[in-house]
Amino acid sequence: MHRPGSDPQDMQPTDFLCDFCERPWSERTPFIEGHHGSCICGDCLSLAIVERRGGGTASSGSCTMCLEHREDLRWRSPRRDASICDRCIDQATTVFGKDRSIDWSPPAA
Ligand SMILES: [Zn+2]
Ligand SMILES: [Zn+2]
Repeated sequence: MHRPGSDPQDMQPTDFLCDFCERPWSERTPFIEGHHGSCICGDCLSLAIVERRGGGTASSGSCTMCLEHREDLRWRSPRRDASICDRCIDQATTVFGKDRSIDWSPPAA
């Protein structure tokens, strides 16, 4: 999400907030931007991966990252009304994994 009141013509990194925990983007926090400005940070992605490994049942609803109605929502933020689907978890994991400048790896099993 974009910080309320931020200038769309002059976006600073700290104007991007994680949709799941509201943390601002910083150099130490990897971020992935989804559609329409939705973002997830590396910490929240790790939580989602751990949750999915736990094998919880998926729920249906709209995914915050891709904005599509999905039947495979895997993780819902405990803090905000935000959810991420299986597909977006996989995509974000791939993007983070490819970028060597990002200090993030999937949580150890
Ligand atoms: Zn987050
Ligand atoms: Zn999605």
